[in-house]
Amino acid sequence: RVKEKWAATRVKHPPTSLALQHFDATYNVQLGQLWPSVRCALLSERKYGALFNNFSQDAVLADLEAQGCRDFIRDMDTEGRRAPPVDTEHQQLPPLWLGPDIRCLVFPRGDITRFKPARPDTYGLLGYYLMDAASVLPCLALDVQEGHNVLDLCAAPGGKTLALLQTQSIGFFCVNDMSVSRTLRLRKVLHSYVPKQFLIEDKLRVTSFDGTKWGDIERNTFDRVLVDVPCTTDRHSVMEDDNNIFNKSRTAERRRLPQLQLELLMAGIEAACPGGEIVYSTCTLSQIQNVSVVEQAICLAQENHGIHLQVVDLQPLTHMFRKTFHFAPDLHIGEMVVPHLAANFGPIYMCKLRRLT
Ligand code: SAM
Repeated sequence: RVKEKWAATRVKHPPTSLALQHFDATYNVQLGQLWPSVRCALLSERKYGALFNNFSQDAVLADLEAQGCRDFIRDMDTEGRRAPPVDTEHQQLPPLWLGPDIRCLVFPRGDITRFKPARPDTYGLLGYYLMDAASVLPCLALDVQEGHNVLDLCAAPGGKTLALLQTQSIGFFCVNDMSVSRTLRLRKVLHSYVPKQFLIEDKLRVTSFDGTKWGDIERNTFDRVLVDVPCTTDRHSVMEDDNNIFNKSRTAERRRLPQLQLELLMAGIEAACPGGEIVYSTCTLSQIQNVSVVEQAICLAQENHGIHLQVVDLQPLTHMFRKTFHFAPDLHIGEMVVPHLAANFGPIYMCKLRRLT
């Protein structure tokens, strides 16, 4: 019998334990009494949503509905839509246009059934893309309108790109990710879900530039910019030792994240046109990577570039989806989906900014 080796070679402090220690120290203070239940959800199996692919010919929608799924976007809280809460601090804007072509199916609250992998239709296109359903919210918040020029600054592997493409409203779509290998994955995703005629260069451009330098290339251009930055990916960090940002060898990279996030957001702000809108998003609960980054960007944009920004109130949106997701209470800038055992989506933080100048 071969003696098991794991006991001798096991890492003393695996990155998942380091991540949990770090979160216990910081989120206990930040989230207070909410943290024990969020922690429990973070350590439990996550819930997915099936982003329905409008380009596929397969009749998967009826099939998913027969399994008990519902499209959380159509099934929104209409009462919330009629009476959005009034926010006196941030100026109210017209109601959000909810891209009627984005559909994301979820199993009901408390139901942890897993989706089967999607199958290719007769043209080889897959019927749905599995992703955290809360990741669709930044795409809805972006509020893309017919003919808009859109930039997705950190796009790979492409879940949000795919959600935005479902609207079929985008005039020109620029999709970027600095990582060449991840950009390849993104291209594969696009080819598995989108017909070739939608992937031509004059409609969609895929690039692998350093997003922080975007302002040097293209300024004041896009109607909508999505800045979905790299972060501590909290759920991954407590669950998987592979490719974990809490690995000791990546400490410097992790500490630099807020600065990188700020530079990416600044580049996104510069890339937007006056009147254009920017959505900043992460999948961490960290205040330093969320609210603090946005606050610094608002100041820097004004001081260094004379760009005046307005925070767009996303409460009407969160109000509509409060039956599907748990939102953190009392964030003074932006909105955040917090994991919950009955609706184990997120974390997703999002904040929407509008360029006034
Ligand atoms: N938006 C993607 C989606 O929905 O599938 C997820 C994006 S992921 C949270 C962050 C991405 O930022 C990674 O793919 C990473 O390669 C990319 N990234 C990191 N640094 C970057 C930079 N300086 N410029 C552009 N992309 C960068």
